[in-house]
Amino acid sequence: MNKHAKRFYFESLVAMLAIAGSLGAAACASSPSAAAAAPESGPAPAIQPTAYDSVRAADAQREAARRDAEDLREVAAEARAANAGRPPSILPFGVTWAPAPEEGSAFGIRVLERPSGRQPTAITGEFAEFPIRFGRLDDAWFGLAAVPIDTERDQTLILRFEFDDGSTYEQTLSLAVESRSFTSSQMSVAPKYSSPSAEALERIDRERTLIRSVLDTTSAEWLIDTPFRAPRPMNITSPYGQARVFNGELRSRHTGLDLKGADGDPVRAAARGRVLIAQELYYSGNGVYLDHGRGVYTGYFHLSKILVEVGEMVEAGQLVGEVGSTGRVTGPHLHWSLWVAGNSLDAGSLLEMTLPLEETSR
Ligand SMILES: [Zn+2]
Repeated sequence: MNKHAKRFYFESLVAMLAIAGSLGAAACASSPSAAAAAPESGPAPAIQPTAYDSVRAADAQREAARRDAEDLREVAAEARAANAGRPPSILPFGVTWAPAPEEGSAFGIRVLERPSGRQPTAITGEFAEFPIRFGRLDDAWFGLAAVPIDTERDQTLILRFEFDDGSTYEQTLSLAVESRSFTSSQMSVAPKYSSPSAEALERIDRERTLIRSVLDTTSAEWLIDTPFRAPRPMNITSPYGQARVFNGELRSRHTGLDLKGADGDPVRAAARGRVLIAQELYYSGNGVYLDHGRGVYTGYFHLSKILVEVGEMVEAGQLVGEVGSTGRVTGPHLHWSLWVAGNSLDAGSLLEMTLPLEETSR
């Protein structure tokens, strides 16, 4: 288990305990009189209690029990007042997430189905003010939250549950966001990429519009059927988020992560999905965009060869192309991208997610 996974399990446990703790508060509040009645430590009394003493002890016990019952009723009344306005049969839902929220990454959120009780017909969510599109996956609801670069330390996760009778319920959690430091690098590329011509700028603009429109269309259901996997071995030659200075002029951030590869090496789909774009693009070279459903997309760029067609469904691990050096590059490699809720994020975070499917497939 890696560092992130450990942290996730710890945090999930804390969240579950926090929920259990708030439900268990009634039991704790009812115990002070029991603690007060506990015998003092020390030598046992030398004199046997008389019958009269026994009666007094029994009376004291009954009195303590009566006070306990009274305390319990008070606590229950307080809980009812605090829950006023909420549908009566609703307790907080079990929520787990992985990896730990980190600047520039995505994290997966699972909302567990209850063994009994009312099940929601829909869940919507929000984190750092970006929407989370939950969908059913196995016996749970699953959604990806985006944590763009420059997201501040503590953010609220809001979950909204809808039920078949039209009633709704909201649950919130505060999650800490880990900050990250990004490196910077100087790069040399052909001048046509650092200062594109007017004609090239027009093409870049057209492609941007196409990509934006494509990233607006997504399958209403999850298309994935396995956890995400790396399209190539995870030898990162340039990390996500790196600040870049091209030919000493153009500054940008690296919006994907670069994986090592030679011309012709295989590039595989990170998960099951539908091909939305499979064509040559100005900066990305030969690029493939996959829709995995619920607003989650991955991209594979600079390919020497594209092996899929627009509209085609590809399975997890299926060949989508071959490594190359097309577009704005300094040499052959695979540029791997992830988009969630319109944000370009570190695709590496996909590999640290706990999916409902994971328990049976790993
Ligand atoms: Zn790259």
